[in-house]
Amino acid sequence: MDIINILPDSVANQIAAGEVVDRPAGAVKELLENAMDAGATQIDLVVKDAGRTLLQVIDNGSGMSDSDARLCFERHATSKIHRSDDLFSIQTMGFRGEALASIAAIAQVELRTRLHDSELGTVVNIEGSHITDQHPVSCTPGTSISVKNLFFNVPARRNFLKKDSVELSHIEEVFKRVSLIHPDIAFTFNSNGKMLYDLKQGSLLQRIAGIYGNHYKERFYEVEESTDIVRVRGFVGKPEYARRNRTEQYLFVNGRFIKHPALAAAVERAYDDMLPEGSHPSYFIGLQVDPSRIDVNIHPTKTEVKFVDESAMFSILRSAVKKSLGVFTLANQLSFDTPDEFNFGPAPTGYTPKQPQVTLDPTYNPFRSSSPGTSNVKRGSQNIYSTLLSNMQGDSSMDAVEPSPSPIPTGESAGEKPANSCLQFQNRYIVTALSSGLAIIDQQRAHERIIFDRLMRSTDCKAAAQTLMFPVSCQFTPADAELFNELLPDLREYGFELSPAGQCTFVVTATPHDVKESELQPLFEQMLLDYKGAAMQKFNDRRRSLCTSLARQTAVRGGTPLAPEEMQQILSDLFACPMADTSPSGKRIISIIKPEELFK
Ligand code: ADP
Ligand code: MG
Repeated sequence: MDIINILPDSVANQIAAGEVVDRPAGAVKELLENAMDAGATQIDLVVKDAGRTLLQVIDNGSGMSDSDARLCFERHATSKIHRSDDLFSIQTMGFRGEALASIAAIAQVELRTRLHDSELGTVVNIEGSHITDQHPVSCTPGTSISVKNLFFNVPARRNFLKKDSVELSHIEEVFKRVSLIHPDIAFTFNSNGKMLYDLKQGSLLQRIAGIYGNHYKERFYEVEESTDIVRVRGFVGKPEYARRNRTEQYLFVNGRFIKHPALAAAVERAYDDMLPEGSHPSYFIGLQVDPSRIDVNIHPTKTEVKFVDESAMFSILRSAVKKSLGVFTLANQLSFDTPDEFNFGPAPTGYTPKQPQVTLDPTYNPFRSSSPGTSNVKRGSQNIYSTLLSNMQGDSSMDAVEPSPSPIPTGESAGEKPANSCLQFQNRYIVTALSSGLAIIDQQRAHERIIFDRLMRSTDCKAAAQTLMFPVSCQFTPADAELFNELLPDLREYGFELSPAGQCTFVVTATPHDVKESELQPLFEQMLLDYKGAAMQKFNDRRRSLCTSLARQTAVRGGTPLAPEEMQQILSDLFACPMADTSPSGKRIISIIKPEELFK
């Protein structure tokens, strides 16, 4: 019996769609790329309900003929390559002819398009791969594609979508990736009738400022390098604006956003030891390479790329970034080109003195001042810690620094320090003796656990809130700002006092005790990132996610030297935590080397 049959196109397209369009942001990426491939200089993106009900992209590009307007929805219909050789010289974003066929398989699509030299345009309506209507229409040259009710016939996927705010932030990320590297194209982005972005044509730096705000202009040094293999152009963040995550690292190749761990490492390496541990530079770097030197067999929705000259590119990129960091750092101290700047005469008219910059303090140590938040746990912790200590008194051979620790009686009064010895190893680990063996404690993870536990009992934090001398304003991209609004009630509970000021700005007037002003913005960004990643719906989970980010952001970092009292404080606070051995993000805090193992 024959059992094989050929799938109808509509089904095949739907399956293909799963790969290309996994969520509204996937469709947005394809539509924006098509508009760019069509040579548009103005592209407008409109979404309703985070793309669930409507996604529309309007461009002033080439437009399509009447028959192309039907053909473009066929699988493997493309104007971008004709023969296999073309695969090695691809200059466009798309080339597989899959996107529109896929989108039309899982949505109701209306295409309006007009060639520039035609009198009239045409409208095509297609739903679930079936064209339902086509007729002439008068419209402006270019193309407008409306995608309605995405996944209307794939309920599983539709139900799988996250909250609107989360889907919108994915769309925003796609929008940023595309618009950042094409500052020569004007873009707008409208969501539920609200204009989120209105980006004019301009330079790359203007585009960065258009997206992130004008204050970004002074955060970067320019990078520029041309070699036979690759042309590098872009902006790299000044070390003092480094952040604790990699969200502001944008690498593009031939106009396409890519992820390339090796090249990303090349950029980070250029910063050598300019950055404190765990900090990452921001950058927006565009690379231009001969298309035949890139592996084209990479799926279009994937962001990974392979280069023929990878190791050469690594070196070139690293030295290009190094050069601009070096050149500009030097130039800041001594400007060789314009010695006049060092005439300390009256400031020229129109000259506004620069505000002193906030710099990251790599030795920042939240323990230096005693935190009122920790005092609540001290009494309890002291007891547990003392018990631990008294348990281990037989093991005096394990003493690390002080030759003979004085034994500590249990039930000691609070306030007295445990006299046990501990030592710091590589500014990263606290080594101390426990009854079970020699304990090696990761200081950062330990501190994350302590802060996390404290935050989860939020009343403690409220008590610890500190009014700022000067309010700090934090800015977000529009979609992030919307998301941030959802977090406000929780943040207030943790001791932040903050309120919206305008569409994308929030003013912070008080913070929990151990949060540094200069770390507010990166802290909130990290929270948003974690929040998006987890897409927490339930209160408990959201709260966990927030406390985890807050703990991660404020904990003392590995690489920070600690005074003996600070280590003692960490130890006693840590052992007061019910889950002292795992960090909030599930990492191991304590390693114990048993005496038997040592004997060996
Ligand atoms: P690909 O981009 O891989 O060629 P698509 O399915 O995305 O495949 O598009 C199919 C074809 O439709 C394109 O090759 C192009 O000729 C045409 N097309 C799509 N979008 C536009 C647009 N905005 N303007 C002009 N032509 C377009
Ligand atoms: Mg395409």
